[in-house]
Amino acid sequence: MKERRKSRPVKVGSVIVGGGFPVSVQTMLKDPLLKDLTSIKNRLDHLYKMGCEIGRFSVLDAEAAERLNKLSQISPIPLVADIQYDYKLALKCMEADIAKIRINPGNIGQEWKVKEVLNMAAGKGLPIRIGINGGSLPTSLRKEKDKAVAMVKAAEMELEILAKQNFHNVIFSLKSSNVDETIRANIEFGKLCDFPLHLGITEAGALIPGVVKSSIGFHKMFSEGLGDTIRVSLADTPENEVITGKEILRVAGLTKRGINLVSCPRCGRTTFDRNFEFLKKISDYCETVDKDATVAVMGCAVNGPGEAKTADLGISGVGNEIIIYKDGKILKRSSLDIAFDQFKSEIDAL
Ligand code: SF4
Repeated sequence: MKERRKSRPVKVGSVIVGGGFPVSVQTMLKDPLLKDLTSIKNRLDHLYKMGCEIGRFSVLDAEAAERLNKLSQISPIPLVADIQYDYKLALKCMEADIAKIRINPGNIGQEWKVKEVLNMAAGKGLPIRIGINGGSLPTSLRKEKDKAVAMVKAAEMELEILAKQNFHNVIFSLKSSNVDETIRANIEFGKLCDFPLHLGITEAGALIPGVVKSSIGFHKMFSEGLGDTIRVSLADTPENEVITGKEILRVAGLTKRGINLVSCPRCGRTTFDRNFEFLKKISDYCETVDKDATVAVMGCAVNGPGEAKTADLGISGVGNEIIIYKDGKILKRSSLDIAFDQFKSEIDAL
């Protein structure tokens, strides 16, 4: 793995992106900002517990901007307003208590409008994320054969605007639904400046293809030393985006946060009928636990005890009996109906 690219630190609410700080995990909420802020707040609380560090919302009108303001005041994580084109909406959002806006100065239009947005952001100390997307490149670049090259050129156009306005509180992203294009664009752009990089494979697809594309893309970009914050873009829930992002960071060795869950795939040797059901409960619980530990859930008396014994905490189901291992030794034997609660309290005690 190459040495991590040196980027400037950019403060997004309570999270520092870049500057050698840990790579943060973010997600985008999928629903419109409806009136029922309590249920959105509850969801943000859960995402925060799962390890999500930044949340983003599309802001479509002034009413949504006001709701985002209210939500920002009660949210456990910094919130980002995602705006397309409308400079007035960007100004409106910046009156609020948000932590960052995502807008491309190159899409705003006249220079005086760009100036107004950047001046206000500078005055409030708010960073801007500039998101170059392979699917919405400026018209002048749409004929470029290599989309990675076009994305870098589009980012350079944004860099010129920023330099002219002397605005440097910026995070960049260059994303495409094509993994190779995204990797190449980020490698090239990373050489041009020291702005932090928000990584992602955009429109990566449904859960399984999205996880595969994102894992391969992030792995290559991390090995090039790139990446200050990540968002896994899935046609799935924000929760699954966060789980995937955390797992990718953990496997890449970029975080120790979160439980490493080992589980057997199950085969005909199992006598533990409720293996997957039990695993799902344990897995959901482990996603909310911020500990550096390995937990194993195994399905039979053949390989199960071996794997379960090497984990910090393990469980092996044999018929209706559950054996719980801790630090390689049998801790207790129990029945299935109370096993989850017992295992959960052992996780808590780790
Ligand atoms: S632990 Fe047992 S049940 Fe699970 S895959 Fe291995 S042999 Fe099969």
